[in-house]
Amino acid sequence: MSRKTTSARRKAGKKSKPLRKARAGAGNKAAYGATPPLRPNEIEEVFRRFHAANPTPRGELEHINPFTLLVAVVLSAQATDAGVNKATPALFAAADTPEKMVRLGEEKVRDLIKTIGLFRTKARNVIALSQKLIAEHGGVVPRIHEALESLPGVGRKTANVVLNIAFGEPTIAVDTHVFRVGNRTGLAPGKTPLEVETRLGQVIPDRYRLHAHHWLILHGRYTCLARKPLCERCIIADLCRWPGKTVAA
Ligand code: SF4
Repeated sequence: MSRKTTSARRKAGKKSKPLRKARAGAGNKAAYGATPPLRPNEIEEVFRRFHAANPTPRGELEHINPFTLLVAVVLSAQATDAGVNKATPALFAAADTPEKMVRLGEEKVRDLIKTIGLFRTKARNVIALSQKLIAEHGGVVPRIHEALESLPGVGRKTANVVLNIAFGEPTIAVDTHVFRVGNRTGLAPGKTPLEVETRLGQVIPDRYRLHAHHWLILHGRYTCLARKPLCERCIIADLCRWPGKTVAA
């Protein structure tokens, strides 16, 4: 997915630490967790507008099947989706199953993904998770959060992405964009990705949950940018509680 969440930074770091010095960016107008929360009717309106603007949002990582999605998400830690998408066609043409990936071997995987940051560690993890899928899950990507999170290179966010996109589970994957948008807007103020995920799970109306994380990612990636949010074209600007927004409420 996208880059720079603290949770993504440490895959093994499956625990969320408070982002004590983190700020909401763009002038540090409010610390994460400090924006006043939106009311339920306002949250309903936020997602009504996201749905109206884009009824069926899609993830941007190219993949062929649940296994290649899992690999793509693992590769996307600390990297952009666009950067991952440049490398994965050749990788997935060579190996689109755990068995083929193991046969391809770490060295060739490393060579095929060398344009992606942390490629050595990621190549090692891709081989190790493929081996574990074969040994413990018959070569099939499990539809169980704990089983996914036990795979090498797979943290909570990656497991949630795979469950959502591959299996249609209404999970919320909190990457850097979701973390920022959840905090800035007042949808889900929280000091850690897990706090934001938990709060989003509590406040998002059921009918919007399946697509919620895609809407929030896309909003953060293309509108509520970290340094210069495009508030003047934001469809929820009147609802947003962030004191740093650049349009009047
Ligand atoms: S108004 Fe929109 S773009 Fe601006 S900070 Fe709020 S959510 Fe982000």
